[in-house]
Amino acid sequence: MIIAVDGPAGSGKSTVSKIVAKRLALLYIDTGAMYRALTLRVIRQGLDLEDENALVSLAKCTKIGLEGKDNLCVLLDGEDVSLAIRTPDVTANVKYVARVPGVRHEMVALQRAIANKGGGAVLEGRDIGTVVFPNADYKFYLDASPEERAKRRCKELIESGQTASETVVKEDILKRDDSDMKRNVGALKKCDDAIFIDTTGLSIDGVTEKILSYICA
Ligand code: C5P
Repeated sequence: MIIAVDGPAGSGKSTVSKIVAKRLALLYIDTGAMYRALTLRVIRQGLDLEDENALVSLAKCTKIGLEGKDNLCVLLDGEDVSLAIRTPDVTANVKYVARVPGVRHEMVALQRAIANKGGGAVLEGRDIGTVVFPNADYKFYLDASPEERAKRRCKELIESGQTASETVVKEDILKRDDSDMKRNVGALKKCDDAIFIDTTGLSIDGVTEKILSYICA
């Protein structure tokens, strides 16, 4: 079974996708973590973020893996980068990597391979229902008001030991939405056959149960 969960930053898709995957005994695949891992390598190597050919070459020779308990450990050429990929520097620069068609081609192939090998999965990202698995068994598109999304992201950042202000985080996620929605490939958009869930004011349990009610109906 393939379950696609798309939506913008802070819409609640990561938290809920992890729980849904666990409840259905499916693999959880955080596709954003893969774009983040490649971005980290680009930054570390000091590559020009505008040099698309260099980014594609790097994508082709980089080994990105999701392993460990609940698939939550992100490996970059064998190194655990689960925390390193969440820094503001990576978050601010991932758009340069995510907009390159050749990079997306590599990432999409990897995402399909992991999901198929696992015999099914809950995949969360931006283009899962539109590009990665257009024939997914279930497609969900989660969204919430920018204020609520900023509040959630801020809480996550503070919990992980970073400093954050809701105003700045809101500006950042709106900028990220804009580049995610406007790029020419794999853009963030709700596909016609996705179930839309506005998570504003809903608890994690509320969203989880809503998703499961469609799948287990
Ligand atoms: O999900 P997360 O916020 O960690 O994703 C980080 C970035 O990775 C997104 O803002 C987007 O630019 C990119 N991404 C993507 N396609 C996906 C998942 C993430 O382009 N399927």
